[in-house]
Order: sequence, then C-alpha cells, then structure tokens
Amino acid sequence: MNQDELSDLIVSTRLVSQARIAALAQPAMRRCARCGISDAALGIELDGEGICNECRRFDRSGDLLAGYFRDEQALQTLLAGRAALRRGDYDCLLLYSGGKDSTYVLYKLIDMGLRVLTFTFDNGFISRQALDNIRAITTELGVEAIIAGHAEMRQVFHESLSRFSTVCKGCFKALLDLSLVLADQRGIGTIVTGLSRGQIVEERLKYFYERQQWDQARIEAELAQGRQVYHTMERFAGLDGKPFEDGAIFERVSLVDYFRYSAVTKADIFAELRRRNLRWTQPTDTGFCSSNCLINDVGVSVHLEERGYSNYEVPTSWEVRLGHLERGAAVEELAGVSDPGRVDKILRHLKYVPRRRPAQPGLIAYCVLREGASLALLERTLARQLPAGVAMPRL
Ligand SMILES: [Zn+2]
Repeated sequence: MNQDELSDLIVSTRLVSQARIAALAQPAMRRCARCGISDAALGIELDGEGICNECRRFDRSGDLLAGYFRDEQALQTLLAGRAALRRGDYDCLLLYSGGKDSTYVLYKLIDMGLRVLTFTFDNGFISRQALDNIRAITTELGVEAIIAGHAEMRQVFHESLSRFSTVCKGCFKALLDLSLVLADQRGIGTIVTGLSRGQIVEERLKYFYERQQWDQARIEAELAQGRQVYHTMERFAGLDGKPFEDGAIFERVSLVDYFRYSAVTKADIFAELRRRNLRWTQPTDTGFCSSNCLINDVGVSVHLEERGYSNYEVPTSWEVRLGHLERGAAVEELAGVSDPGRVDKILRHLKYVPRRRPAQPGLIAYCVLREGASLALLERTLARQLPAGVAMPRL
C-alpha cells in the first residue's frame, strides 16, 4: 500500500485492541446500568460498575451540553420575532408525522397563537392509522395539512440502507428538502421539527460535544452553515439538489427544533395527548421505536444485522441521560423488530439484501483526517490500494 498517499489524508490512526475486536466479533451484549445502551454500539464500553463511557463523560461535562437547551419562553420570543417577518399566510411549517411528539408540538404551537401549516411526508410506508390521526386532528383544529410523497423513495431507501444501514437518513433528507422548498414557496420563514432531545444531541450537537466546543454563537453559526452544506452536498439518488444552489433560501427559511425549548418527558406527552384529544390513537401497526412509520423496523433490522446494534441505541440512550425517558422504557423500545415477516417483505420490495457481517474479526482503526481531506477522498484512495479480496472498509 502506498503509505505516502494515505498519510497525505490522515493525521493519526489508532488501532483498537485485539480484545475489543474479539468482543465485537462475538458480542455477548450487555446494557449500561444507567442509560441502557448496548455495549455492542460502536465506541461504547462498560466499566466495572456496568456504566458506559458515554454516561461517565456526561457526568464530567453534561452540564455543557445542557447549555444548548432553552425554555419555552425563549421559543415564544424567537417565533414571535420570525412571525413578524412572514411573507404569506402562515407563521410556521410544522413537520408533522402524526406521531405522538409532533402532535404534541402542533397543540403547543397553536396554543402560542401561531398560524401553522402542517407538512406530512408520506414516504409510502406511513401507517394508515397515523394518516387517520393527522386528518382527524388537523380537521378538528382547522389547520391546513399538506401530505405529499416522492416518486423515487425506493431508490432513496436503497441508497440509505447501503450507505448507513438505516432507512431514516435518506427519508429525512427527502423530507427536509421537500419541506424547505414548500416553506419557501408559501412564504413561510420557519420550519419547526419534532426532533427529540436525544436526536438533537445526535444530529446537531455530537460534533461540538466531542470537541468540547461550547461557544453558543459559534455553534449556531456552524449549524447554519452545516445545514446549507447538508442540503446542497449530501446527495441521494433520486433527490434533486438544484433548489438549494441559491443559498438565499437558507436566509429566508430557518429551522427550529421545538424540543430544544421544551424539557417535557415522554410520560408528560402521553398525558397531554390523553387530556387534549381522544382522537389521537397509538397506531398498532408500527414497530417499537416509531408511532407512525412501517418501514422504520426495516432500518432497525438491517442495522442490527449489518452493524450488530440498533440505530436507535445512541439517540435512545440520550433520551435517558437527558431525563426524557426511563431506562426501562428505553430498553423496551430497543427490543428489536416487531414483525420480521413484514421486514422481509419490504426488503424484497426494495431489492435490498443486507450484507453479512464478516465472520472473521476485522481490523478497526480510528483515523483523524488532515484539513482539506474528506471521507470520500479517503474512500477512493483505499479502494485503489486495498489488495484484491479485502472488503472495502466502512467509513
Ligand atoms: Zn450509559
């Protein structure tokens, strides 16, 4: 292998111990006594007391993470300020899945006196019961609801599974692309998401948390920049990046995560839904981790098969650390898939065959890239240099 070419890309490399590799190859899964995360999840190890390294780090520096979160008063001020700039009939566009979290957010936005348009992305696998919830609730509240799909979702799901072993990355990209264009067309300056705090940590804050960067102004600026890069550079087959080439759209439409501003627990959300609307019913045709999406279990199953742990391990453990969810409820949600027969059927429909994890232990290394180098470049360089018969590493 041409070391020079690789060392142009990588600053440092650390190989993981043989013991760790053996443990990964034959996982006898244990769960953190505090957050419930499996030690099969990448980078997670349990100490002598059965506590994971992420919980220990949270003990040391979790208060820094808490600095990102705000209260509902801050959200009121933010949304009122943005509503004053509106160009159309609505103050905000809510990404409305019909699940429990976004239904709760819809109520709260209306309580705040905002004019809300809801957007539901029908990826082709949204539970009929969830769609019934959406129609019933938006009709009752007199809210305009748009439900739209995308013709190329089979291709998007296939690529998402191949690259990330989950369906969610591709689905979320399609949802965010479509909603940004819709908001702009309707003159709406704010898109509101129902991302949970655990998802916010994973999607927005992990980068900063790992680098211990807590200058809030810098975080806001880098997240805004990252959002633009995400829409323009993160390409999935079947999705069109053209609407985002004009960067002004990101000035006109901003993104707000509702639960950044609300520390409500899952139990509180259920209690509020019961109190406010008997029309919302828990769909019974979805898996453990989703109250609206039938393909979600396919992602969970493929991630388990290809990577050895559920894609929900990390965000769910954050829900526990941040006090949103009890450990017992988290472990229940991570129980695997509810209907393996349906998973197989959808995989056949997508023409996706999960890759088997290698029976032989592989080699694991952490690499730090040089400035200017990219994972894509490293991937291309490795692809040229690896001997025949050696599987391409997953980056
Ligand atoms: Zn833990």
